[in-house]
Amino acid sequence: MNSPHSGPTSCQDENDPGTLAVSDALALVMDRAGEVAGTEKVSLRSALGRVLAQALISSLDVPAHRNSAMDGFALSGADLPESGAAELRVLGTAYAGTPFRRDVGAGECVRIMTGAKMPAGTDTVVIQEKAEQTHERIRITADNKKGQNVREAGEDIAAGDTVLEPGTRIGPAQLGLLASLGVAEVPVKRRPRVAFFSSGDELRSLGEPLEEGEIYDSNRYTLYGMLNELGVDIIDLGVIRDEREAIRGALEEAAGQADVVLTTGGVSVGEADYLQDEAARLGEILFSKVALKPGRPLTFGRVANALFFGLPGNPVAVMVGFYQFVRPALKRLMGDASVGPPTFLVRSAAKLRKAPNRTEVQRGVLELDANQELTVRLAGRQGSGILSSMSKGNCLILLPHGGPPVDPGDMVEVQPFDMLRW
Ligand code: AMP
Ligand code: MG
Repeated sequence: MNSPHSGPTSCQDENDPGTLAVSDALALVMDRAGEVAGTEKVSLRSALGRVLAQALISSLDVPAHRNSAMDGFALSGADLPESGAAELRVLGTAYAGTPFRRDVGAGECVRIMTGAKMPAGTDTVVIQEKAEQTHERIRITADNKKGQNVREAGEDIAAGDTVLEPGTRIGPAQLGLLASLGVAEVPVKRRPRVAFFSSGDELRSLGEPLEEGEIYDSNRYTLYGMLNELGVDIIDLGVIRDEREAIRGALEEAAGQADVVLTTGGVSVGEADYLQDEAARLGEILFSKVALKPGRPLTFGRVANALFFGLPGNPVAVMVGFYQFVRPALKRLMGDASVGPPTFLVRSAAKLRKAPNRTEVQRGVLELDANQELTVRLAGRQGSGILSSMSKGNCLILLPHGGPPVDPGDMVEVQPFDMLRW
């Protein structure tokens, strides 16, 4: 790898030796990304979106007792007729939460509701639609099986089972599972802290009037959205001018409070290269160019003890760089075991041109074709500043380094945005 300070390289220069392949760059990033230390206990609802710190071992059977899966009549399988019909006497009713406490003998049964504990002496439930009831008796026929419609104690979870592994992200199903085990407080990992700022003299914050040549800062909002969905703590340091002292001060402030520092802008050709200089001075730079389109001028290293990602300024390059590099690193820092970026293959409806010698990421729309098959088409114009095609799209299309252009009907790799949210 070349020195990161060998100066900016033109995006047209496809074979620059200082440019890392995406897979090599990602390997370097993941090598430096270690889980942050620290755990805390939070109430069950606050555990949503958090990462479990310890294995969760059940102290209960779920369900706690053998119970009925249907509304019907609980009886002993020995009383089922082999042919013809049988009559049984109904002793009473078992409700969920109000068990029937007497024993049930031969020739007897109990009306039972879904979820009610099976009374002693019963092992089978005949659904009410198959039982003809007259006063205190029911008539049942031979088309029933011993043991049917019964849920065994512990059939979902047995006491002593490991229910959730450490590193599990807690979603709605895990929240319910924890509640079913009576867990009110959950040990979770500390959330990584991420500080970020935008650099650029042309950038204005919302609420300020735009002078000639100025634009609103949108990167802090896409970053806020992506970081928030991922579930990290966010420190927004605003817009910083393209001045050496201002940049140094902001980098120091960011690294002083955060595990990860993200910046956007100020790393491409023709800009005063203060960000890279100052980051190198306060830490180190491991690479500053990646064979990725959009997003070639992507810098990675360390500022003091914080990981540092210098993303390019172009709004689409920010999102692409975030999803390909920052997200996997943050998941590792969070201790989330489900790291790898989910991708799958679908048929392309479109012809896709492809930059040589780079991984190219395009914005696509995944949709069902006339045969109900998933296909992908382009979401619109693909320039690295065209945020509207990102907004119209629902996935990224990943065209591999060295891969050929794509013809309609070819298979391409996609990453749905919904699968990148966390
Ligand atoms: P840079 O990487 O600073 O050369 O920026 C590349 C392009 O992205 C320029 O057109 C910038 O105006 C634009 N840009 C940089 N930062 C931002 C930002 N925070 N929000 C919107 N556009 C930006
Ligand atoms: Mg700039």
